[in-house]
Amino acid sequence: MQLRYSYRLYPTPCQREALGRAFGCARVVFNDALAARRAAHEAGEPYVTDAAMSARLTASKGTPERAWLSEVSSVVLQQALADLNTAYRNFFNSVSGKRKGPNVSPPRFRSRKDSRQAIRFTANARFKVLGNGRLRLPKVGDVEVRWSRPLPAAPSSVTVIRDATGRFFASFVLAVTPQALPETDGECGIDLGLGHFAVMDDGTKIAAPRFLRRAEKKLKHAQKDLSRKEKGSRNREKARVKVARAHAEVAAARRDFHHKLSTRVIRENQAVTVEDLSVRGLARTRLAKSVHDAGWSAFTGMLQYKARLYGRDFRKIGRFEPTSQVCSACGVKDGPKPLSVREWTCKQCGTIHDRDVNAARNILAAGRADKSNACGGRVRPLVTAAQAREAGSRRGAA
Ligand SMILES: [Zn+2]
Repeated sequence: MQLRYSYRLYPTPCQREALGRAFGCARVVFNDALAARRAAHEAGEPYVTDAAMSARLTASKGTPERAWLSEVSSVVLQQALADLNTAYRNFFNSVSGKRKGPNVSPPRFRSRKDSRQAIRFTANARFKVLGNGRLRLPKVGDVEVRWSRPLPAAPSSVTVIRDATGRFFASFVLAVTPQALPETDGECGIDLGLGHFAVMDDGTKIAAPRFLRRAEKKLKHAQKDLSRKEKGSRNREKARVKVARAHAEVAAARRDFHHKLSTRVIRENQAVTVEDLSVRGLARTRLAKSVHDAGWSAFTGMLQYKARLYGRDFRKIGRFEPTSQVCSACGVKDGPKPLSVREWTCKQCGTIHDRDVNAARNILAAGRADKSNACGGRVRPLVTAAQAREAGSRRGAA
């Protein structure tokens, strides 16, 4: 299965310049192609095919206006086109209903001011991890890497990213062979909520850790500070950098928390069931923002790939299951309850329920039922979160 491994890069000033040029060229190629497709659409002409687009790119390098594109690796430019193609495909599939989940918006122009700049080198760009630990990038140079953990296999591609705070990262895609952990008989249902990040069927409640809450507070503070600064002022620019840094800190803290929790859950349980949160229903409510903030999908994505990596069962049950309305002890449907009701007593069997723990128990039960359902319950093939993000038009610091 394909996984991503990310590391911090430390390019020299000269390499930063070369990377900046490559980001710029990739952006121009992406925007040119997007403009061409839009123009064709407006003129009532058919969609410009991927192959035609690629040929146009090659031809444009021969023109004086675009000759400078030859200064960067051609793979980087082809990959920029590939990003656009994927973004269009995702959009079309979303419109036609082939793609589930939240609606995908059509691709947008990239800007120099986007907080995240990225280029991708594939294997045929001949990027290379050198014996001295540096990463050789064509037409950039040998860049210093901080190897926070070893790369377990040879990567098939690397994306170089510059984030809003000006830091550089290399994100490698590589094939990893799943290795099953020793079997356990643990099973677990998880209710992902707003009060607690997660509640387990055994009654364990997991709140976001303090370091994450602290980072979030700092971010809120920085945002307030920024909103008070005058537009165009130097102080505002300083405040903007502070916000970007605080954002990056929150993202890192959250990722760390998700990683630790998902690893623990997968190690301790043979089967894990969560609710399918594909946001659709929730996005229409005021809960939407919290849903995204809580990062549930990032977390369930980790559970999913780690389950596959370590030979565990990962199940998602549909949103139509009224997990908080059914008594997990006797199965009677007790009817809807407002979110403010945290505890209730079953009228049928008298069990006193904690709303979230009861939901987690129901989720576990639904997961078990799903398993006994010979062909049901299997999740769709895995797409790593990072890949999905890269192709889409949405920003992502995670
Ligand atoms: Zn009951």
